[in-house]
Parts: sequence; structure tokens; C-alpha cells
Amino acid sequence: MELRLINKKGYNDNRIIQVGDVEIGGSQLVVMAGPCAIEGKEQIFSTAEMVKKAGGKILRGGAFKPRTSPYSFQGLGEEGLELLKEAGAYYQLPVISEVMDTREVEVVAQYVDILQIGARNMQNYSLLREVGRANKPVMLKRGLSATVEDWLLAAEYIAAGGNQDIILCERGIRTFETYTRNTLDLSVVPIVKNLTSLPIIVDPSHGTGRRELVIPMAKAALAAGADGIMVEIHPNPCEALSDGPQSLEFPDFEDLMMEVHKLQEVLK
Ligand code: PEP
Ligand code: MN
Repeated sequence: MELRLINKKGYNDNRIIQVGDVEIGGSQLVVMAGPCAIEGKEQIFSTAEMVKKAGGKILRGGAFKPRTSPYSFQGLGEEGLELLKEAGAYYQLPVISEVMDTREVEVVAQYVDILQIGARNMQNYSLLREVGRANKPVMLKRGLSATVEDWLLAAEYIAAGGNQDIILCERGIRTFETYTRNTLDLSVVPIVKNLTSLPIIVDPSHGTGRRELVIPMAKAALAAGADGIMVEIHPNPCEALSDGPQSLEFPDFEDLMMEVHKLQEVLK
């Protein structure tokens, strides 16, 4: 595999990505949290308040949603991004949201601090080229069936476009297992650390699809050396318009954050 730009050039070659006053890839474990989809003002503001209070660093929320079924809720679009930006500004949290289409990169970049490329678009090379020209950090999720090589070469596309502020995100891959939504491949954490200079975030929400597995797998990810985690949380997961079964309730999120704070002391 030919990596020219994102490859690790020396033992200490670790790229730190600065987002507002948050460093991704530095000594702090970074928690990104928020709803799968932005559903309305009250939902995103109450979630942002929870994220801030518990010590989360980045607010997530989907506005352009890549749903498996065309009949599922597709997200609030630009209106959702406006709400996300407002909530982030109010609680002083940088925000991240997915961009699905080359035609929307410019507009999404106006609202977010980090552009997310979703698993389903990991090999959308036009989109990778487009975010490679953007002047915002990009979080590249691993494709549903992508090998490490596919994934790292996709990251190399973004870097080749001129944007080296790339965060990798492991979110589980398709295997024969059906008990979990995906199989969270934590072995990629040390692999990515050995091969590249980029930070890696693990998403145990999409990685497992099951709320009760999120905290244990988040802890395992951090123990494996991940720079942080991304988790879905919702004020009332039973009523969530997407991904309720994998979304943490607020008290669970507070428990998770206590565990992260404990791990911060012994890791890094
Ligand atoms: C998401 O994080 O909102 C999402 C849709 O995840 P993925 O692309 O990993 O399925
Ligand atoms: Mn989701």
C-alpha cells in the first residue's frame, strides 16, 4: 500500500488536529457525542447541555442522513445544521456533521467545525476530492466492508487534495455475526497508529448497534489506544427518529464519562 502523505514518518509522528480549543490526537481523550439525527431545537439543545456538563468535547448530530431505507427519516438538512451550530455556539462545543454529496460540501462547511464522511461514502472518490479541498478537518469513517488498505487509501485521497487534517473513525464492519449490528474491529486502532500519523476515534454505537455494549466497547477502544470515541446519545432514545436502540440515555452517558475520566488518568 503506497501511503505518501498520511504514513507515519517516525516514532513521534502523530498529527494533532486543532478544532477550536480541542486537540484531537493529543494527550486528552476526546469524546464526541450527540444524537444520531438532529430532530429539533429542544432535542439538540438539551443534548448539547448534557455533553458539556459531563465533559464531552465535540457535539455531533446528523442533518443529512444516509438511511438504509428511503422511507426512513432523512434528517432536517440545512435547518438541522443551523440548530446544531446554534447549540454548539451556546454551549461552546465544536460541532461535527456528515456531508453526503459533493454539491453540499460548501454549505455543510459553513455550519460545522469537522466534516464527517460516512461509512457508505468512504469510497466516494469525488466526495473525498471535494473535502480534500475544504479548509475544515475531515473525519473519515471506515466503510462497511472496507479493508484497512481501502480505508487508508481513501484518507490518502483527502490528503492528496491538500487537506491533511484527517481523523479516522472505526465504526464496525460487516461480518457473518448478526447479534450485533456490525463487528467492531478494535485491532485497527494499533494498526492505524503503526501505519499512519493520523488520530483515530472509535464509534461503539454504530459498531455494536446495542446500547448495553457501548460503554464496555468504548472503554476497550480507549485501552487499545484510540484518541477518543464518538457515541450517540438521546434525551429519549425510545422516541428517537433514528438509531434509538444504540443511543445512550443521559444517565448512561454520565456513567460513560466517569469511566473515560478514570481511563484518562491511566492512559495517555
Ligand atoms: C453517523 O455517524 O451518523 C453514521 C451514519 O454513521 P456511519 O456512517 O458509520 O454508518
Ligand atoms: Mn446513527
